[in-house]
Amino acid sequence: AQARIGLIGLGVMGANLALNIAENEFPVAVFNRTGSVTDDYIASAGDLARNLVPTKTLEELVGALTKPRAIIIMVQAGAAVDAVIKGLTPLLDKGDMIIDAGNANFHDTRRREAALSDLGLNFIGMGVSGGEEGARNGPSIMVGGDKSSFEVIRDILEAISAKHDGAPCADHFGPDGAGHFVKTVHNGIEYADMQMIAEVYGLLRDGEGRSAANIGQLFETWDKGPLKSYLVEISGKVLQTVDEKSGQPIVDIIVDKAGQKGTGRWTAIEALSLGQSPSTIEAAVAARSWSAVKDTRIAGEALFAGLKVETGAAPISEDDLEKALLAAKIIAYDQGLNLLSAASVEYDWDLDLASCAEVWREGCIIRSTMLDEMASAVREGLPHGNLIFAPRFAQRIVEGSSALRRVVASAALQGLPVPAFAAALAYFDTMRQGRGTTDLVQGQRDFFGAHGFVRVDTGETDQHGPWASDIAHS
Ligand code: NDP
Repeated sequence: AQARIGLIGLGVMGANLALNIAENEFPVAVFNRTGSVTDDYIASAGDLARNLVPTKTLEELVGALTKPRAIIIMVQAGAAVDAVIKGLTPLLDKGDMIIDAGNANFHDTRRREAALSDLGLNFIGMGVSGGEEGARNGPSIMVGGDKSSFEVIRDILEAISAKHDGAPCADHFGPDGAGHFVKTVHNGIEYADMQMIAEVYGLLRDGEGRSAANIGQLFETWDKGPLKSYLVEISGKVLQTVDEKSGQPIVDIIVDKAGQKGTGRWTAIEALSLGQSPSTIEAAVAARSWSAVKDTRIAGEALFAGLKVETGAAPISEDDLEKALLAAKIIAYDQGLNLLSAASVEYDWDLDLASCAEVWREGCIIRSTMLDEMASAVREGLPHGNLIFAPRFAQRIVEGSSALRRVVASAALQGLPVPAFAAALAYFDTMRQGRGTTDLVQGQRDFFGAHGFVRVDTGETDQHGPWASDIAHS
């Protein structure tokens, strides 16, 4: 046996992750279903091939590993992971470990962990973020599973991960599906962040007729201030890129139908089943779903072409847009963190939310300057679990919400959709209203279904209005 760790699946992520492991001087045995991919991979690995052990069968892979064996699977989420696990398990010994590093649904991770644990095998569900570049040079790594299994591979994971001021962006979050759930919520927040940036783009493009390059320059400027983040940076770059074939800005030749691999949608689904509503993430998922029905939108544009939107909407200043984006982004994190808390209680994970924010500071897609401060705010303790109530953020939300209000109002008057911004504002306005309007909803429920309500004055529960007898007598 020559290798400390094995890796199955030399696709985009697996290939880069294995090079990263090799570069950190951990010998790694690699296997890919299609063998020719492995040959090409080793041939192009250059000097790093010294730490790569190519294998052509699962038996050969397992035989190449030191014990207890640790094998990373980096294949498409779903059935492919189950197929690989099925092939591996008969070859492994008790105490060996399988690490699923793909974007698994955490329910699958919980199921796999339970099944493998019955066989005496350890299973780690590990979320990896940062795309191709992150996998190669330092991703953010979110681990779930047995803590003692994590300790076995901790040195490797910390070495290959991104670093924030020297601290590795790799951590263990809890048992079974905890790591994959944290990755899922990371992706949900990523959806919201991307959607909000796209909404700013829409307001400037359709509201003010600004060019892609001009908007891209604005994002480039914002990337030097409090909004500094990977997503703002790449948005600026995308908008300023010209298509070689047509000479047009590249965004102008990209069809406006967004793809989704599932993680954003899972965030919304899991949230709803936990009685939560991260409305900014839901809005982002909705926006992608709506984007898919392009033919319908084209028909709608023709059908409602005569519709007059209010003119005279105040122009939106760049300053307002920047502050609105900041405020809405803080609200998206507030909602994401609340979801993590709810899941932690439901699944008994004891998640450390500050660690979540900390591992997201570098390496991953949602990395940003603000995350460092968010991590500090979470460490200091969030009043009522809400980031928007934290002293570090409350004042910023107060200022930012005025800007957000003007942006949402102007967008509405102009007839431009800003679902994530509007969702963020509605959430904030709800969270600063001690008495909302569900008194009427409770009244309605009691009227038609005798569901009962709680009295404001006496606190008595299971109270009923006089309407049941009215109905009986009418
Ligand atoms: P790719 O499509 O690039 O690679 C897929 C790999 O899976 C290939 O090596 C393929 O082997 C292998 N594979 C597929 N089906 C099977 C099977 N039934 N049995 C064995 N091997 C199989 O995927 P990515 O690298 O992009 O993604 C891998 C995982 O990482 C996914 O879960 C993805 O969601 C996640 N991820 C991806 C990110 C990205 O930016 N791309 C970022 C973060 C996570 P073969 O060559 O034989 O087809």
